[in-house]
Amino acid sequence: MDCNEARPLLDANADHELTPPQSRDVQRHIETCDACRRESEMVRAMKGAVRSATYHRAPDDLRARIMAALPPADFAEPEERARERIGRSEPRARQRKGWLDWLRLPQGQGGGFGSLAGAGAGGAHVGAAWRGGLALALCALVAAGIAVSLHRTGEPLPLVDELVASHVRAQLSGHDIDVVSSDQHTVKPWFNGKLDYAPPVEDLAASGFPLAGGRLDYVGHRRVAVLTYRHAKHVIDVYVFPEDDRSAGKPGPALVRDGYSVARWRDDGMMWWAVTDAAPESLGALQAALTARLHGADPGTPYSGS
Ligand SMILES: [Zn+2]
Repeated sequence: MDCNEARPLLDANADHELTPPQSRDVQRHIETCDACRRESEMVRAMKGAVRSATYHRAPDDLRARIMAALPPADFAEPEERARERIGRSEPRARQRKGWLDWLRLPQGQGGGFGSLAGAGAGGAHVGAAWRGGLALALCALVAAGIAVSLHRTGEPLPLVDELVASHVRAQLSGHDIDVVSSDQHTVKPWFNGKLDYAPPVEDLAASGFPLAGGRLDYVGHRRVAVLTYRHAKHVIDVYVFPEDDRSAGKPGPALVRDGYSVARWRDDGMMWWAVTDAAPESLGALQAALTARLHGADPGTPYSGS
């Protein structure tokens, strides 16, 4: 076993998760390789530090400010949706608690880290572990700051962020379409039985936005239909929510998030969200084409910009 093979196994080795032959091979390598032995000791020191760390609770006023800044508590969600969510992810209350747990900071080295130093771990390892803990705590504080500032803008930002993340994830994974078809009569029935509503599906090829297909996604704590359109070299994901769903968000001006254009509007009993890496104007054109189609008007001249 060489360094490249040993390194990825050091974590699991420290946790006694390797098979006996693997563990023996790693151990043999560590005994002959100074670099990997140091790395292994560092991993063990970090684990020890995390296990033995004592915690400070976040001050009450900081906790209260963060709780106040989180989106309005909709803990009283409909039972049906709560059941739908359970099994997909942890209960929301538990997620929130876990998130706040990161705000607890390890105490100084005289406290929880004393026993570790006494156990023979080098000072540098303790320092590294301490810095790691501090970095985590700072990340949590920065995240809390972001949550506070996002909330102050008054936009339904968490949903916007979720939609952009969904769009980006689909593009990165190469799995952006579950049902590949430019035929609305194929895509629309595909959603049957997968959703508790029937999204309108329109091919807008005549307006420069050919339908490429559709997929299911999980956004805003619900399953949602995503219609994928092509426009020049760009992909536009259109998320269709039932208008009265509390996850659907509200209409508002177009916005740009992380370089992605986002448009949102209400039509035909649905709330529509469109996300793309193309220019915001293309979403305006898509919305116009869709509105015209839904209301039986002429689709007009194809939009050729991007
Ligand atoms: Zn090595």
